[in-house]
Amino acid sequence: MIKRLLIANRGEIAVRIIRSCREMGIETVAVYSTADKDSLHVRLAGKAIRIGPPPSAKSYLRKESLIMAALHSGCDAIHPGVGFLSENAEFARLVRNQGLIFIGPDPQVIELLGDKVMARTTAEKYGLPVTPGTGAVGPGAGAQTAGSGGGVSGGNTEGAEEAAARLGFPVIIKAAAGGGGKGMRIVHKPQDLAENIRIARYEAEANFSDGTVFIEKYLENPRHVELQIIADRTGNVAVLGERDCSVQKNHQKLIEESPSPGVTDGMRRAMIAGAVPLFRELKYQGAGTIEFLVEKDAFYFMEVNARVQVEHPVSEFVSGVDIIRQQILACTGNPMELDPEAVKLQGWSIECRINAGAPGKISRLEIPGGPGVRFDSFLYTGCSVPPHYDSMVGKLIVHGKDRPHALARMDRALNELCIEGIPTNINRQKRILNHPGFQSGRFGTSFYEEIQEDIEKELQNGQ
Ligand code: ADP
Repeated sequence: MIKRLLIANRGEIAVRIIRSCREMGIETVAVYSTADKDSLHVRLAGKAIRIGPPPSAKSYLRKESLIMAALHSGCDAIHPGVGFLSENAEFARLVRNQGLIFIGPDPQVIELLGDKVMARTTAEKYGLPVTPGTGAVGPGAGAQTAGSGGGVSGGNTEGAEEAAARLGFPVIIKAAAGGGGKGMRIVHKPQDLAENIRIARYEAEANFSDGTVFIEKYLENPRHVELQIIADRTGNVAVLGERDCSVQKNHQKLIEESPSPGVTDGMRRAMIAGAVPLFRELKYQGAGTIEFLVEKDAFYFMEVNARVQVEHPVSEFVSGVDIIRQQILACTGNPMELDPEAVKLQGWSIECRINAGAPGKISRLEIPGGPGVRFDSFLYTGCSVPPHYDSMVGKLIVHGKDRPHALARMDRALNELCIEGIPTNINRQKRILNHPGFQSGRFGTSFYEEIQEDIEKELQNGQ
């Protein structure tokens, strides 16, 4: 077992990792940017090291500085958290080359899964249905539908046009290296394709230093459903049920729940039957998520995220498993404490992401409590929310015996949560939660877009 772990991250996920480490008797070392010097993760960790120099926005991406900090502070492992370097194969490799443990799968597995085109081919190989689409529409070869392989060069989008016509419009252009909802463009008409491919490639290059894009059939209003996986070296692959993340704004998740109101037992079994051999074959270790789009009775593989996810707490609530603990065990050569056959899922869990509308200082904070309520956050009264990072400042998660119970509990908890000093989306989340569409459980990824105007009006009128 490891003795000391460096957390190469900030905010609520750094706090979350520290909590599990403390329970496991693992000492923690935090890193922080100048802007984060008074942050909660700095206060809670056993030791904290500043990663400089400014600008703070870059601090958590400085691979060499992070590894030096781990070596100098006597750490034997690095946890990358979520975002930043968590799916960066080169970082994982550098960490390992220094004799440190990387809390995540092998670098070559991260590399394979990080490329959505390669991931699609791999999933297909294991018999998983993938969203109809093309291979890379990047520099090189000609595009071909289904599976992967070919691509066309930036100037020549002819193959892509044929492929898109075969798929049928609308189509969605996606960055092979994409993440966080960035670099996607929906195209409704053939004549708009070439221009959008050019823009998508430019955006992909700017955001991910890789201009490779590919095309998928754009499904109208599907559900986003994902399985939480934990796997260890011995071939144990546990599935902690699914999460529904269909409530999204600009392809970014706003509310998640487990189980999904739109997944039948049969579909769940089929997803699991496809996913488990894939993770076993990849010799995957640690926590991972396999994402699907669901349309009526069909589901399609979308991608694997080779890390822990923001929305992991809903799976923790329904399974009773500490996912970070099991992830650390699995990545440090210990068998996980989970018997995949014995996973029992209970009740219903919902998470609302709490986002800041602007940076600022927290002047007042009241955190909800009571049965089945959890608030994962880095906020405390008097702390500052810096402008450099993701807008998410916390996650409110509830657990109830069934969906109506969880809905009532979330409504109660959102009403108790009070954050002053910065604008937040708490009121918006209340509206979405209480919208008949959400309450009914019958909604897809376009749901928020459909109700957005009404909700904005209600908020403006102060209703
Ligand atoms: P990222 O890795 O950036 O999060 P994903 O591939 O996970 O991107 O897709 C994010 C969201 O984009 C999905 O949850 C869904 O709402 C939308 N999306 C992606 N692909 C499609 C598609 N083929 N049809 C419809 N919506 C899609």
